[in-house]
Amino acid sequence: MKEMTIETLASFCRQYGFIYQGSEIYGGLANTWDYGPLGARLKNNFKDAWRKRFIQERNNSFEIDASILMHPRVWEASGHVASFYDPKIDCKHCKTRFRADNFISEATNGTVSAECMTYEEMQNFIRDNHIKCPVCGREDFTDVRRFSQMFETYRGTVDDNKSVIYLRPENAQGEYVNYINVLRTTRAKLPFSIGQVGKAFRNEVTPGNFIFRTIEFEQMEYQTFCKPGTDLEQYEYFKEYAKRFYIDLGLPEEKLRFHDHEKLVFYAKAACDVEYKFPFGFSELNGTHDRTDYDLSRHQEFSGQKMEYVDPVTNERFIPYIVESTVGVDRGVLALLFEAYHEEELPDGTIREVMKFHPYLAPYKATVLPLIKKRHAEKATEIYQRLSSIFMVDYDESGSIGKRYRRSDICGTPFAITVDDNTLCNNTVTIRDRDTMKQITLSLKEVAEYIGEKIKF
Ligand code: ATP
Repeated sequence: MKEMTIETLASFCRQYGFIYQGSEIYGGLANTWDYGPLGARLKNNFKDAWRKRFIQERNNSFEIDASILMHPRVWEASGHVASFYDPKIDCKHCKTRFRADNFISEATNGTVSAECMTYEEMQNFIRDNHIKCPVCGREDFTDVRRFSQMFETYRGTVDDNKSVIYLRPENAQGEYVNYINVLRTTRAKLPFSIGQVGKAFRNEVTPGNFIFRTIEFEQMEYQTFCKPGTDLEQYEYFKEYAKRFYIDLGLPEEKLRFHDHEKLVFYAKAACDVEYKFPFGFSELNGTHDRTDYDLSRHQEFSGQKMEYVDPVTNERFIPYIVESTVGVDRGVLALLFEAYHEEELPDGTIREVMKFHPYLAPYKATVLPLIKKRHAEKATEIYQRLSSIFMVDYDESGSIGKRYRRSDICGTPFAITVDDNTLCNNTVTIRDRDTMKQITLSLKEVAEYIGEKIKF
């Protein structure tokens, strides 16, 4: 079985229509990626799974969809304008740029963490340990400097009257600035949660590893507003809740681990990531953060609007604490792609490639295959039309049935429905299971319910 590296996965994704290089016909724009027909479905299904778990199945949970462009004061209040910087270091010889903390961790095979080091300490560590540039082999670096991750853009009616605004680097602020609106319009009581799914933009020092670290990506952020003193309980709950979410979608527990942050930002009480064992090492999929009352207090200070909550029973007034659960969409998709990929040797010695996605995540739930095009296509089209009004279904009539099974395996389609003479005479079809390759016969009227049951999450 070939080893699935980040490069082989990227080329597999490009070949079959999961993910393409962004702006490919112009030679590509580095670290931008376009989701193709299969990838876009997979990603949407992952987002739907999150919506189901975090919004639909949780009482007092509300989804919003805030603007990407926000008032510039939002980013002053959040602290991003003053401190959303990464430490960068450049090789003076070959001009390659590195994120200094990651550079130290990679150079020491993960044995040294620079999480708690100052810029000066990182610089000294690199110098004292004679760490060489992995690209040109020299030991000639600039000092460690600040690199702003904020993407600036401008708005204004005339060219000389433009003011700076930012592409949001996270979704969370959209939830914080709408806390009062949601409270008022839903009449929710603490604890309650606001979540949203949307794009975020970060000018990363070293993007890379395919869709793991990009400059434009998607997040599913979820803020739980709670009474001070109940925050740590919420924090522990959401740490586990997020991990369970990945396990239920098919990531094996032994390839997941918690990483408690050693260094906390000054206002945070606790922070923990769920990490997945990618081929390039354990890396963050999501974060759970106890952010105290920092965000709402800052917005109260900068906007002049009261952010207090009045307890309906005790009449006590306070600013709620926030526990955040933030899930990266693209990193989740990357882990799911790695986990789904299998190569299996068939009895005839050939190899089949199959994407074993959780059926809920599969881009197509079923594919309809007329055994002989001339004889069965009409009936198969009728079945396809009926089923496609219920879920995403593919239709494939070209090539041998074996080849069509292989194609549907690569797409990760859990069920292949073959239409043959029995369908014409008895209204039955055979359904082949993607993972076991076993076939069963069902009457046509049972098919939708059978598949509907199997694809539940
Ligand atoms: P990292 O330490 O990897 O830079 P972070 O701790 O800064 O990530 P958060 O600010 O907590 O990340 O963002 C929440 C989630 O958004 C992350 O867990 C990750 O899944 C995702 N994410 C953050 N930055 C990127 C990026 N540049 N590309 C893709 N996904 C990202």
